[in-house]
Amino acid sequence: MQCPSCQNTDSRVLESRAADAGRSVRRRRECLNCDFRFTTYERVETVPISVLKNNGSREILSRSKLISGITRACEKTPISAEKIETLVDELELQLQQQNIREIQSSDIGELVLDELKKINEVAYIRFASVYRKFHGIHDFVETLENFKSSKEELAPVR
Ligand SMILES: [Zn+2]
Repeated sequence: MQCPSCQNTDSRVLESRAADAGRSVRRRRECLNCDFRFTTYERVETVPISVLKNNGSREILSRSKLISGITRACEKTPISAEKIETLVDELELQLQQQNIREIQSSDIGELVLDELKKINEVAYIRFASVYRKFHGIHDFVETLENFKSSKEELAPVR
């Protein structure tokens, strides 16, 4: 790492600290030549993920679109904006770690649903209504039933 003061390339690390919710590392360095102290950030390189839409077109997975979709589903629920951002962070991280470069838009919806199911029932059902596009009351009830049965699996009645 080149010293910003004298351009010498040798430095020693004084301190390393996790930053950006653990996705990057902040290092405090000292130049071995002139003792100048500076800070560097090291972060995981992320590759854009394509979303394959139902109509066959592709678009880059948009963090802001995901956040606004989930925010709409979470209106009038106790889910904070911060919680939604964390949810999207974790989702992105999950896809990056699995080396996924392309994903069906419906699969993204299912991943979000899995997370919402753990957090809030109302938000889960609202989001499901958008992503699974209900075709009448039958689908709506089916979603409700799925929610009930999976919740029972997670928390068995004693
Ligand atoms: Zn230097």
